Amino acid sequence: MSYASTLETRLAKKVTKAITEFNLLEDGDRVMVGLSGGKDSWALLQVLDVLRKRAPISFSLVAVTVDSGYDGYRHDLISRTCEQRGWEYRVEHTDIGDVMDDILDAGATPCSLCARLRRGVLYRLAKEVGATKIALGHHLDDFIETLLLNLFFAGSLKAMPARLVSDNGEHVVIRPLVYTTESDARAYAKESQLPIIGCCCPACGDLSLQRQRIKRLIAELEVEHPEIRKSMIRALGNVAGRHLLDKRLNPLPELRDAALAGGAMPLRLFRR
Ligand code: SF4
Repeated sequence: MSYASTLETRLAKKVTKAITEFNLLEDGDRVMVGLSGGKDSWALLQVLDVLRKRAPISFSLVAVTVDSGYDGYRHDLISRTCEQRGWEYRVEHTDIGDVMDDILDAGATPCSLCARLRRGVLYRLAKEVGATKIALGHHLDDFIETLLLNLFFAGSLKAMPARLVSDNGEHVVIRPLVYTTESDARAYAKESQLPIIGCCCPACGDLSLQRQRIKRLIAELEVEHPEIRKSMIRALGNVAGRHLLDKRLNPLPELRDAALAGGAMPLRLFRR
């Protein structure tokens, strides 16, 4: 069985690579796909469905939409499309939008709070639908943008994992699009004739958000260095801990010996 297009072949290869490298799927998995109706989540659902039909392991899919309650959100289009394509689907209506209005300070960036609130709903839904994995549509560009956002504005060197076990050990979140670029995800959702809809959140598309600035920065650099995205995603899997300044990765000999002996900190470290 061949793939529907060159683009689908490329996506399937990249997603298979991610699944294999990070052990994202196992036989018997029931995968709950977070489906916002944006290009990334549609691309993820479509490619997982294609792979499901040809994978050597057996797994099932259930798409779940968390409606934040913004006026004009076309969850009806999402449910109709899932129905037409025979995809198991569920929509959860919430008042996340109102909650954010109540607790966010004026001018604060809403996206991290929004993501946390929606994550909580997804965890609850995962239990209700009996999911063993929660698949999210973060793609390669999300990974490298998050890296730069943390580096430039949060004083930490981190991006996001391709596979994450929740703190209480009850959920496994997977990101099979880690090696798929945003432009491929967009093109694939369009090629697959999926209705790309916006979340209708007032912050969506606001070019003043830091993430949009980072996107422009990477695009500018890419003009001179076409391989820059590839290099950045490779860097996330090629960390030289001893060449950083985090003493948890590279403890000073005195601190390490004291910690190993369970004793007090060597005094000579403080007498100068
Ligand atoms: S743009 Fe809006 S919906 Fe999207 S993460 Fe930010 S706050 Fe949430």
